[in-house]
Amino acid sequence: MSPLDTGSWQKADWDRAASKITPSAKAYIDGKFVDAISGKTFASINPATDSTLAMVAECDAADIDRAVAAARRAFEAGVWSAMAPMDRKAVLLRLAELIRQNLVELALLDSLDMGKLVTDAATIDVPGSALFFQWYAEAIDKVYDEIAPTGPGDLALITREPLGVVGAVVPWNFPLDMATWKCAAALAAGNSVVLKPAEQSPLSALRLAELASEAGLPDGVLNVVPGFGETAGRALGLHPDVDCLAFTGSTAVGKLFQQYAGQSNMKQVWLETGGKSPNLVFADCADLDAAADMAAFGIFFNQGEVCSANSRLLVERSIQQEFVDRLVARAKNTQPGNPLDPASKMGAMVSREQTDRVMEYIDIGKKESELVVGGEEVKIDGKGCFITPTIFNNVTSDATIARDEIFGPVLAVVPFDTEEEAVRIANDSVYGLAASVWTDGLSRAHRVASKLRAGTVSVNTVDALSPMTPFGGFKQSGIGRDLSLHSFDKYTALKTTWIKY
Ligand code: NAD
Repeated sequence: MSPLDTGSWQKADWDRAASKITPSAKAYIDGKFVDAISGKTFASINPATDSTLAMVAECDAADIDRAVAAARRAFEAGVWSAMAPMDRKAVLLRLAELIRQNLVELALLDSLDMGKLVTDAATIDVPGSALFFQWYAEAIDKVYDEIAPTGPGDLALITREPLGVVGAVVPWNFPLDMATWKCAAALAAGNSVVLKPAEQSPLSALRLAELASEAGLPDGVLNVVPGFGETAGRALGLHPDVDCLAFTGSTAVGKLFQQYAGQSNMKQVWLETGGKSPNLVFADCADLDAAADMAAFGIFFNQGEVCSANSRLLVERSIQQEFVDRLVARAKNTQPGNPLDPASKMGAMVSREQTDRVMEYIDIGKKESELVVGGEEVKIDGKGCFITPTIFNNVTSDATIARDEIFGPVLAVVPFDTEEEAVRIANDSVYGLAASVWTDGLSRAHRVASKLRAGTVSVNTVDALSPMTPFGGFKQSGIGRDLSLHSFDKYTALKTTWIKY
């Protein structure tokens, strides 16, 4: 059976493949796996079984210094930053291919590390990572610079130059993909990168760095430094020789990175942060079954641990009951199970802490509104951290569970009577990452989409996303955009060179 064709794999196949994995758990600096200078390690726990997967190098400020120095040396030497665009393209295309060839291992690393369904990792996360590297590789020798219309006797060139050393700090919900979103564009633009993965899920990023070397990326260009946020992440944010810090994670920590930049070298800071995305279902929606399928997917996929999760369902009151009934049926059909079993519909929560946090919100929800399904923590085979798909009905828009990002499989259903009210409730949030609208009316679709304050508005679907389209937030959901050619804006500086002749 080809490792690339996992479509027919059963749990036994994934178990067998998992038993053969020995993750690399040291830091990857200057093209080599190294221990933390302090010699310290921390446990990477599989949240589906509570077992320790690996003891990972616990890097701190000293290791960040070492990684930034390696990244700076590589940048100044021009081994990557000054390589011909077609040659950089070839390296990143080889990396995309290596990601595809190592799909089973990468999918398992993410699944075992943070609890997601291995079939999702194998069909969405890993192919996505390969696609994003391929897309940015192909862009490298197709983006042209500019000449300003200055007139005769003057030639003003406007060129994009790599910034230098990019620090990237990423979360645990899509470990390989979040690392890829930063690295693919930053590397394609010619920068060196120091990446700090989340402490809950460092393993796929370490393997990615090794594969990048195998693809021909010169030493020092991509460094991966595992460790905790308050030590390694903070040191990267405060480092005087980091030119740009690209972050994905919570809004609270995003604000810290803005402070770190102000306290140090005023590095550019780009933030992809939290969300509380509304999904608006109007009574003129043409296909309520499709809307219910996607509403359930929008909140239960990846255990609801998705920044753009459709965690607020705004439904027109005339169809509220029949729509909630359809959602409840889907929730009952999306029960958590062993993440390595292709028959499972939902995986494990990332950690004990996150499980406790989500269960606290469920307790608050029970006091604030009407629990119609789920709300329980369960064990699978007597182990792990799992939460059943949970729906609260008749939630008011000022309730805690309608305002806070819960980051779990918890849906708040808020009824509305008019289009105007729906838009007002949708925009009544500190976040503005994504929104969805279900309607058969073309005018309503445009009218409502134009009024929603969100980085992505999906109409008659949820979470529309591609390498071709920018992704990011309004308001406290972030600053700057990942994906698409616009992502290069974050990783390049514009230079004017004015020649008189
Ligand atoms: P988090 O903010 O706790 O951690 C994210 C990263 O920041 C981790 O690498 C962590 O080690 C580091 N960090 C934590 N505290 C730090 C500190 N004091 N200084 C420096 N670094 C620190 O977020 P999380 O719990 O890992 O992820 C969930 C959050 O990520 C949610 O809010 C979710 O919405 C957000 N997210 C956003 C997007 C997006 O594109 N907008 C995508 C995925 C996740």
